Amino acid sequence: MKNIEIQEKGEKRAELLKRIENVQTRRFFTDQLASIYGGMAGFYEFGPVGAALKSNLINLWKRSFSPGMLELDSCVILPEKVLKASGHVDKFSDVLVFDTVNGECYRADHYVEEKLIELKEKMIKEKKDTEKIEKLLHRVDVLSLEEYDSVIKEFKIKSRNGNDLSNSQEFNLMFGTNIGPAKQNVGYLRPETAQGQFLNFKRCLELNGGKLPMGTFSVGRVFRNEISPRNGLLRVRGFEQAEIEYFVHSNEKVHKKYGKVKDLKLDFLFGKEEQKLQKMKLDDAVKNKIIGNECLAYFIGKTAQFFDMLKIVKYRFRQHKKDEMAHYACDCWDGEIFIGNSWVECVGIADRSCFDLSQHAKHSKTNLFAQKRLDTPKKIIKYEPILDRKNWGKKFKENMKDLIELLEGLSVQENENEQNSSLKLQKSVEFMNETISVEYQRKEVTVHVEDFVPAVIEPSFGVGRIFQGILEQTFVERDEERSYFNFIPELAPYQVCITSLMPKDYLNEQEQLYDLLIDQNLKVYISDQNVSIGKRYSGADEIGIPFFVTFDKDTENDQSVTIRERNSMEQIRVKLEKVPEIICRLIKGDKLEQFGRVVSGSDN
Ligand code: AMP
Repeated sequence: MKNIEIQEKGEKRAELLKRIENVQTRRFFTDQLASIYGGMAGFYEFGPVGAALKSNLINLWKRSFSPGMLELDSCVILPEKVLKASGHVDKFSDVLVFDTVNGECYRADHYVEEKLIELKEKMIKEKKDTEKIEKLLHRVDVLSLEEYDSVIKEFKIKSRNGNDLSNSQEFNLMFGTNIGPAKQNVGYLRPETAQGQFLNFKRCLELNGGKLPMGTFSVGRVFRNEISPRNGLLRVRGFEQAEIEYFVHSNEKVHKKYGKVKDLKLDFLFGKEEQKLQKMKLDDAVKNKIIGNECLAYFIGKTAQFFDMLKIVKYRFRQHKKDEMAHYACDCWDGEIFIGNSWVECVGIADRSCFDLSQHAKHSKTNLFAQKRLDTPKKIIKYEPILDRKNWGKKFKENMKDLIELLEGLSVQENENEQNSSLKLQKSVEFMNETISVEYQRKEVTVHVEDFVPAVIEPSFGVGRIFQGILEQTFVERDEERSYFNFIPELAPYQVCITSLMPKDYLNEQEQLYDLLIDQNLKVYISDQNVSIGKRYSGADEIGIPFFVTFDKDTENDQSVTIRERNSMEQIRVKLEKVPEIICRLIKGDKLEQFGRVVSGSDN
């Protein structure tokens, strides 16, 4: 494509995005937090239309992913020790640089990338060699602090105001606070729902009869103190996550429903060093060891089906490069949707291995093992604690049970082949601020089960980003003035709009129909504005309402109304009493013509 064509295409796209944004704000899908005070960057409010859409999106997500899984609704705040164990206190950070004069902050990777791209374009125009910059751009998001400093120095990168930049430094992304008045009682707003699921793993496993695989899931707000929030809902400081933790044995990363997705042909951008884009059958990606295991692949396929259902068409799956992987992950894929002008990570599907449970077991001194029945029992040498029940009972009372559990969790197991001849071992254990010395006795026991720390496959969905992806990819313009969102009916903020041709007519009948429709679990909107019927139709279309029921002057005589379908604008005339049933069937996918003679409606 010639430069001029690219530029024109870019401008057209920018205008389109502006028009979508206009509908989004004007019809109150979303608005910035505290907008009457000038707004607060990085936080968004969902208005009635947006909130309904988001809650439908979450319900559809639950319907697609959660059957057979255990839901958890955990606390939004977490004590520091939990996030210390998970690695978030030490490692959940981005690199920051700031303007040394006015203090304005920039996320180093984003800012340096932006400036290097500008420089590259300038050098191309001047016909200079850009190889070095190209190389840097490939890994700009994983440079070390020293590397950022030297790039900033070498390419003379200044702040937006032309001032010098500070040295780069780590900035932890968690919002910290004190729990209660005690200063040392530090807590953080959760940066992901996952930790709540790990904390409750043991209880859920008990509830699941000790069986693996086991899936838990949570949907809820999480908070990240992003350095430079931007692009509307795409990079915010508080957002909804819908996350699954799927616990498996590390040798059995499979899923019993893999067969249902394995033949999907998807776009993959893969490679842990260099990356290439290729359309491929999911199963071929597993067989060629591109995707680490079947369980990860299952959730990739399931995510693709979820996107298809929502009418998101432009998406792909990108593998994380080696140096990009989060501190807990061993293989990670992003479900990316094309939003705005680029590919945006909307879902992270990570193999978190045994990292989290091992860490929490270690730091909380709790046994977070699962058990697997062995095909043939085996003999092992075990050191079991000698319990001083009498004394400990007096001292620790109702906490005695926890102490015993702790000590049994510390039992030392050995293989029968291993030589350790001592009959007893001595151990010191910290419990309730006391150091207890415990003797462990050597015993030969036959075991029928194996203890292991489960591995975790985690699909993590950012609800706001998917929300934005849907808005952009379902937006249709009929002409210069009229647009609609091609939402599937279950997603639409309202499934039905009711009106009367003459706004003051049939008020009771409209109310009655409204009640019957909400009894069917539908969201319904009564449009009573005193504007032309065409305007009422286009107002409903604009927020994606799929069906429109109109009472008119003949309704009184023939007890009939019209049902209009959003995309085709076609109408049928049906008996009023049949409307709830017909609407329910239309939502399930039946066609308008099944219920009456179709006429192309005049919208004006
Ligand atoms: P992560 O735990 O970083 O893999 O994030 C999981 C998902 O949350 C991502 O795939 C995004 O969809 C979403 N997400 C992460 N950070 C943000 C943010 N700052 N604003 C909005 N969504 C985000």
